[in-house]
Amino acid sequence: MKYDIETNCILQVSDVENQKEFLDFGAVTFTEKTRAVIKVQDGCNQFCSYCIIPYARGRIRSRKPKSVIDEISKISKQGIKEVVITGIHLASYGKDFSETDIKEIAESGHFNITNNQYKLINLLEDIQQIDEIKRIRLGSLEPTLITEEFVQRLSKLSKICDQFHLSLQSGCNETLKRMNRKYSTEEFEKGVNLLRHAFKNVHLTTDIIVGFPGETQEEFEITYEFLKRIKFYKMHVFKYSPRKGTIAEKMPNQVDGNIKEERSKRLIEISNESEKYYQEKYIGKQVDVLIEDREGEYFRGHTTNYMVVKVKSDENLENTIQKVQVINSENLELIGTNLDF
Ligand code: SF4
Repeated sequence: MKYDIETNCILQVSDVENQKEFLDFGAVTFTEKTRAVIKVQDGCNQFCSYCIIPYARGRIRSRKPKSVIDEISKISKQGIKEVVITGIHLASYGKDFSETDIKEIAESGHFNITNNQYKLINLLEDIQQIDEIKRIRLGSLEPTLITEEFVQRLSKLSKICDQFHLSLQSGCNETLKRMNRKYSTEEFEKGVNLLRHAFKNVHLTTDIIVGFPGETQEEFEITYEFLKRIKFYKMHVFKYSPRKGTIAEKMPNQVDGNIKEERSKRLIEISNESEKYYQEKYIGKQVDVLIEDREGEYFRGHTTNYMVVKVKSDENLENTIQKVQVINSENLELIGTNLDF
């Protein structure tokens, strides 16, 4: 079976459990001229009840640090300033390295091993050392990764962007159990608090599934209240849609489409209000913007915490980091004036 993560499509069915090696794509996905998406991990061992990925993409495989660092060093020389580190299950990075792998990594003398392990945080610490890279952004993170030790080491890395995507899926423990997610809402909230404590201006985003089989109105209201309390910067809301071959597909009490629609609308409303709230707090403040492209008379880019900022300039600002004074917020984008001139 093949599952296309970009389009969410199942193309065929088979279990690729035996695929052990990380498929090294060699090339990265470039987005604009400034940012590159670097895939460092593939596969997943979590078996969430709605997800086909562990069967379709196989079990966890991590890319060797040498391959990652070589590639980032190479593209940094071509002008890339920001890397987005991604994987199917980033929290698992390095867990599949054998003793021989670790020995090899250690013997090269170029990588930072701790407690005889090389995990995601070690990789990030090594990427931090690449001078030309100014920003390191993390792709979607599993909430269980957010421990005190991880956040403490992460917060010491000056290039880490203060925007994290923590995949929650539901704010109700009963629903999470049926989803076979491996955390409770209490544990999730603890991770949120650790990140908010360590990164002053952090923006947290998440994914939520509404209308998961058996999600009663009461369970949805628990999720709703939890989300209001956490106040994510932004939420990606998905209406549950069964994936062939998964446990959830066969679960009783599938939720009616109209109910899913109504729940989705309510959550999108909270998300839009929240994004507006966080953005308006920046009016009158200064932010650093990595300018990615031009849109009409504006140059457009992102802050470290992933707000879109537009600024006018007669000079070409592309692929530069600019200090911008925010003067307004329009259609969930910030408008600013450039302070570097
Ligand atoms: S952790 Fe993500 S990729 Fe893995 S089974 Fe769950 S939803 Fe799928």
